Amino acid sequence: MVNIIVLATTNTHKVIEFQKLMGDFQVEIRSLADFGPLPPVIEDGETFDENAYKKAYHTAKVLGLPAIADDSGLVVEVLGGQPGVHSARYAGSSAGDDDNVDKLLEEMDGFNNRTAYFQCTVSIAVPSGPALTYEAKCPGTITSERRGEGGFGYDPVFYHEGLGKTFAQATMEEKNTVSHRGRVMQEIASESEKILEWLKLRLEEEKPEKPDHNQFLDNDWSSQ
Ligand code: IMP
Repeated sequence: MVNIIVLATTNTHKVIEFQKLMGDFQVEIRSLADFGPLPPVIEDGETFDENAYKKAYHTAKVLGLPAIADDSGLVVEVLGGQPGVHSARYAGSSAGDDDNVDKLLEEMDGFNNRTAYFQCTVSIAVPSGPALTYEAKCPGTITSERRGEGGFGYDPVFYHEGLGKTFAQATMEEKNTVSHRGRVMQEIASESEKILEWLKLRLEEEKPEKPDHNQFLDNDWSSQ
């Protein structure tokens, strides 16, 4: 019986989004905020998949409960896939959204090929290690200047052809119907029964290991 799934994030926006999505799951959805400070996971994977799995698995292992985590970012063709997994800190470790967008526009200056996509990968892991992975991409192009006031991250320079505007010009509802995160969440919602069955079988099969807090003591707590 699966009673609780932990969202491996303290980001309130993501918690609300996931809780809404997983309304049909018939399980209690908790977030990291419900468990007090936990050792953070260093997101140093080379792929979205690696980072999402790291977060989900470490949370599952530490808490002894199934956990779900996501990792997302912007992939630009002419930049060889950058900023990719470095999207949040593209312009440096203390960079904010504005700095990252400035850097992106600078790097793309003079390029006619503006093709890009957002990717979101979600990992659902159990304490013993196995995980399910879901991913979705959202294709678009990078504009040469900011348009719109809404959204976050690279939204002001991400033009979506179907919407006919940048994500920063779109309403949240419009963005959610086409976005990488919205689409991966729709897929997870549509598979909720299968996912719960999979979790139930894994938890029955493999007795979760005891939570081991000491293994994380050397981690960099500032990166959470
Ligand atoms: P996270 O893994 O969801 O925290 O996303 C990492 C980074 O990717 C964010 O800090 C943003 O810079 C970028 N990003 C991810 N999704 C979006 C989006 O929907 N719009 C704009 N930027 C995004």
